[in-house]
Amino acid sequence: MKFNRRSFIKSSSLITAGLFIPANKLIAVLQEELNNMTTLRNNVGIYTERGGTIGWYIADDALVVLDSQFPDTANNFVSLLLDMSHKKIDLVINTHHHRDHTSGNISFSKICNTFVANEKTVSLQKKFYGHGENADSQVYASVAFKDKWSTKIGSEAVNAEHLWAAHTGGDSFIHFENANIVHLGDLIFNNVYPFIDIPGGANIQGWINYLDELVKRFDNDTIFIFGHGTSVTGGKNDLIRMRDYLSALLDFVNKNIMKGKSKEEIEELTYIPGYEYLNDSGVSRLKINLSAAYEELSSE
Ligand SMILES: [Zn+2]
Repeated sequence: MKFNRRSFIKSSSLITAGLFIPANKLIAVLQEELNNMTTLRNNVGIYTERGGTIGWYIADDALVVLDSQFPDTANNFVSLLLDMSHKKIDLVINTHHHRDHTSGNISFSKICNTFVANEKTVSLQKKFYGHGENADSQVYASVAFKDKWSTKIGSEAVNAEHLWAAHTGGDSFIHFENANIVHLGDLIFNNVYPFIDIPGGANIQGWINYLDELVKRFDNDTIFIFGHGTSVTGGKNDLIRMRDYLSALLDFVNKNIMKGKSKEEIEELTYIPGYEYLNDSGVSRLKINLSAAYEELSSE
């Protein structure tokens, strides 16, 4: 994929910043920004800036975008598309409702009319962001599907499918059939503690079963795109490792419940056996994981 460097620089917000920082630093920052765009295979790739990984299919006659990050980063992505002489996005599909995957829809809506998502994703987006200060900036799916939605576009066949509750109540995966690339949204947090959104309908056992099903459905050539992680693309091994982490989390919390530990005591545990290498982020993900597992096990 080729970028027109001059027009890219012209469109970049960094041109303003460039007046105040040394040239060598500016070039380093610009190169980093260019590196947000990575081609994986057959005109399908990813855009990473902030929030959940954006997936894309960019051909001469078709443009599909998966997830939308935030309004500012989605705007940067649109600027890149315009630089590449693409005037419109044919289709945006959201993998789930979280705002780091949907709040950039508003930026895409300047050049896109068709937004697709699972119907539970739409209702969760309305429930959590459809009121107060966020309400006016929400762009909801114009096509809300129940289980599965497919289309042919350019040289690709695109399949979006929702199985059951996992990371949220409405997670979908999107398969570019010909490229054999699947965007998994936040079904994978690769080598970092996952966010388990219990109020948003998450279910840990469901998540384990979901990943099991995906491992069966796809092959060793499939490239998967992940919402978050130390690496945001990978293969089946990454799905298996994530599934095993969630199983270990449920097992460990269950053992501690059996030992008579309280919810508060369980939330203070500092590791999951076998996964000591995972680093907790500033938002205490491990505590949220332990708490979510406790809630799920004690509601059975
Ligand atoms: Zn998420």
